[in-house]
Amino acid sequence: MPTSPPTALNLYLTGAHHQLWHEADAFAAEHVAPRVPRMEASPQKVERRTAQLMAQRGWFGVTIPTQYGGMAAGHVAKTILIHRTGVVSAAAAAQLQAGHIPIGAVQHWGNPEQKMRWLPQAAAGTLLLSIAVTEPQAGGHIGGIQTEAEADGGWWVITGSKVHIGNSHLAGLHVVIARTAPNDVPASQALTAFLVEHDRKGLSVDRHRPGLGMHGFTAGLLRLNRVRVPHANVLGDVGQGLFIAQSSSILYGRPNLTAVSLGIHEALVETTAQWLSGRPRYDGHLSDLPILRDRLGAMQARLQNALVLAYHAVHLLDRREPCDSHLIGAKHTGHELAAASARDAMELHGARALDGDYPLQRLFRDIQYTYPPAGTGEFQRIQLAKAALGETEIEWSERLAAEAAWTHPDPTAA
Ligand SMILES: Cc1cc2nc3c(=O)[nH]c(=O)nc-3n(C[C@H](O)[C@H](O)[C@H](O)COP(=O)(O)OP(=O)(O)OC[C@H]3O[C@@H](n4cnc5c(N)ncnc54)[C@H](O)[C@@H]3O)c2cc1C
Repeated sequence: MPTSPPTALNLYLTGAHHQLWHEADAFAAEHVAPRVPRMEASPQKVERRTAQLMAQRGWFGVTIPTQYGGMAAGHVAKTILIHRTGVVSAAAAAQLQAGHIPIGAVQHWGNPEQKMRWLPQAAAGTLLLSIAVTEPQAGGHIGGIQTEAEADGGWWVITGSKVHIGNSHLAGLHVVIARTAPNDVPASQALTAFLVEHDRKGLSVDRHRPGLGMHGFTAGLLRLNRVRVPHANVLGDVGQGLFIAQSSSILYGRPNLTAVSLGIHEALVETTAQWLSGRPRYDGHLSDLPILRDRLGAMQARLQNALVLAYHAVHLLDRREPCDSHLIGAKHTGHELAAASARDAMELHGARALDGDYPLQRLFRDIQYTYPPAGTGEFQRIQLAKAALGETEIEWSERLAAEAAWTHPDPTAA
């Protein structure tokens, strides 16, 4: 049901944000909630309609400048859309989050022609994008990428495979990171980003395979077998692929995943509070027992912390403050807090937690999906330790958010 933003967010939200919050809640209740049982019952199917409906509302254009038809509403607005959708369906929120990372890449690294060609389609909702970085062997080690792109006249020929690619089956355009220099060249110069249309000869996507959770969301395997793209499809400069992957992951991937885990977290607390207050015990309900109230209180404390972490980080980003470590920390801690609450929720439900027709087991499965993408816990802590030691090399929020200042006239204005 539609809700109002908690007062803890008053510092971060404008009137326009409040409106978006209500719109997102209403949309999720009307269009997403009724689809969840079907998505859960058919894990082998890719849910297309939710993505299509979100696209038609212009939600993939929330950070895109108005000159390309976007809302230019910024990162707090994007977080609202993902968070509120995620309370109802983490899978639908994952579709939204995954589509925004490559849009960020095109927005910040595309040349004028590329932006003019692709961003209006993304903003209008007629084109979904994916970002394809992860490989079967390299995993989170971007420097280990083996997908190769060879120059051939005015063309590049790309060969390799990419796994766990969010929206793989829905995207009309993939941002593919490939190796354009030998293995002994440092990753900071050896990788390049390419815009690869889904219907290029030699590009295929393996059949969707259902996983543990996030039913309806697709994160599949892309195969590139001598796919030819013109030089005009190079995003950024040749050799900038590592930076494009890193900056998109930090500025878009981290906060997006934070918002997904926040949505799941909120649903966990709501479900548990309802359960405890509705389950009879002795002369009252389980919610009357101090020991159980104590655990619910701990869940609520975690949720409140996760909420402020999430919105504070993107507020800084909208204000063009240097905030990489806040974006990283919010993703890291947001997941940790939600995963701890998921365990409490499961235990507080007793055997009911395990019933297939009860939402809790879905939430418990879905929260596992916010650990690996946009940097696992280990990778976040490696980067946070660098921040603690003053060893951070590049502050992406400072570099790119400032560059994109024209997209956000004044995010703090009502
Ligand atoms: C829902 C979802 C959506 C995704 N969407 C995308 C997408 O759109 N595009 C895309 O390219 N990828 C995507 N991914 C893939 C995601 O980015 C990878 O799962 C992630 O980078 C980790 O890689 P891996 O799973 O191969 O694990 P591995 O890299 O094999 O790591 C396995 C374990 O070892 C640890 N580890 C590995 N190396 C180190 C190290 N040097 N130091 C300390 N610990 C280490 C990791 O933290 C992890 O715990 C998605 C994944 C999921 C689950």
